[in-house]
Amino acid sequence: MSHEIIAIDGPAGSGKSTVAKAVAEQLGWAFLDTGAMYRAVTCEALSQGVDVHDQRAMGELARTVTLATLPRVTVNGRDVQDELRTEPVNLAVSIVAANPLVRESMVTRQREIAGAQSTGTVVEGRDIATVVFPHATLKVFLTASLEERSRRRGEEGVDSVARRDEADSTRTTSPLRQADGALVLDTTGQSIDDVVGEVIRCLKSITSN
Ligand code: C5P
Repeated sequence: MSHEIIAIDGPAGSGKSTVAKAVAEQLGWAFLDTGAMYRAVTCEALSQGVDVHDQRAMGELARTVTLATLPRVTVNGRDVQDELRTEPVNLAVSIVAANPLVRESMVTRQREIAGAQSTGTVVEGRDIATVVFPHATLKVFLTASLEERSRRRGEEGVDSVARRDEADSTRTTSPLRQADGALVLDTTGQSIDDVVGEVIRCLKSITSN
């Protein structure tokens, strides 16, 4: 059992999922998209009619749902993959993710998922290097201009991306921030291959020492 972790954080559209997936594939490691977990809980709340502002009800929902992220995202056995990036979810997910009770359940699950892998895991999100895996083998913080990030997010639009960034960076519990010692990469105008290459080079230089 290996508990090596590459923790990748950054704002919406900074390239986390694409880079994390490609790094995991090159290394033969597992990949965990933690944003999909917060989105899945949000989908379930919207579907059950639970008020996303009701912290206790949302905490209870997050604690009790059955969640899977691979090969497709399911919640309580329902496939929600195609709902994850719809407007109602984009609007509500940062409210759900600011709830400390929800975060507690998600962080526990994230540690369990990585701990159960027989390989290392590339984990991406907002608080991975700061809170979930503060002892990660490698910590990466990806950035990109707002213009490029909203272009990558397509239909979501610049206002929604900017609003989520603001909410995610200013919340009290586990705000998005750069971890000490993180490799900081601005992906604006960079190819995926270049960014992936840089992450793998940095991992190799750490693990060969
Ligand atoms: O990465 P993605 O855009 O899918 O994340 C959706 C939302 O989930 C973020 O805007 C943020 O509110 C929340 N999130 C979080 N912590 C994580 C991953 C995502 O708060 N580790």
